[in-house]
Amino acid sequence: MNISGNTSLYGVVGYPVKHSLSPLFQNKLFEYVGLNAVYVPFEVKREELKTAFEGLKALNVKGINLTIPHKEAIVDMLDFVHPDAEKIGAVNTVKFGERTEGYNTDWIGFLNSLRETVGELKGKTVLVLGAGGSARAVLYALEKENAKVYLWNRTKEKAKKLSEIFKSETVSSPEEVLDSAHIIVNTTSVGLTEDYLLFDYSLLKEGQVVFELIYGKNTLLKEWSQKRGAVYLDGLKMLVYQGLESFRIWTGCKPNPKVAFQALEKHLK
Ligand code: NAP
Repeated sequence: MNISGNTSLYGVVGYPVKHSLSPLFQNKLFEYVGLNAVYVPFEVKREELKTAFEGLKALNVKGINLTIPHKEAIVDMLDFVHPDAEKIGAVNTVKFGERTEGYNTDWIGFLNSLRETVGELKGKTVLVLGAGGSARAVLYALEKENAKVYLWNRTKEKAKKLSEIFKSETVSSPEEVLDSAHIIVNTTSVGLTEDYLLFDYSLLKEGQVVFELIYGKNTLLKEWSQKRGAVYLDGLKMLVYQGLESFRIWTGCKPNPKVAFQALEKHLK
């Protein structure tokens, strides 16, 4: 990489963010298409987002990804918010230019990675666990695909609120509909630091697809899915696919997925 006066700057803004895998593959994508650009992590605390955002604009940064805890707060700072992001209520990709534009590519990342394994989602029954920020992107994708969706969350009011926005039916326990679910999506942060059973995992069965948004963890859900013969997917591919879409928005170039996956090879099991 030759850093010069013409190098364009991109990055990911979050807190914490040092662990992010995005720089690993975004820099390879720039290199592959021959763009003089670098992608770096920017560690920005919640209360510093506005200051950081103005700074990034002033420094002529070309584009950023946003991660926890900034995806919702950024929305009100932008000149334009894409309707997908507007409905989801979160932006994970900003393109700087004459105006600042916000997009959500999480839902595309989720959909592309799930489709790779299950194909068409229309007619499939999906049980979604969780009602936080990422659940909104997941529910948006599933609604677009006309899947039948059941939603469960620890805090029931939050699930109820989401089911009024996205086509879904709330359930009081996952076990209520588990048997009929083709796909179970865990959008909760359970498994990230603390782990325990969100439902009786021994009821999972062969052929069911279990998609967990977190990645790089040997979660109980992963362990039980494999034990019960279910197909287990973690969120690493989702991360890559959302990043590929961000890259396309910033540069107008269609990125090569192989380049990104090769960059993360040792993380893909
Ligand atoms: P969030 O907005 O903070 O939502 C957290 C969700 O987890 C809520 O539904 C919360 O339930 C639930 N939860 C937390 N602790 C719980 C517990 N002890 N028992 C039951 N439920 C619990 O977080 P988020 O932005 O949706 O992110 C969730 C996870 O997805 C994170 O681990 C994140 O890293 C991952 N993620 C991955 C990707 C990717 O590209 N692979 C993208 C986005 C997010 P309550 O409402 O009851 O609190």
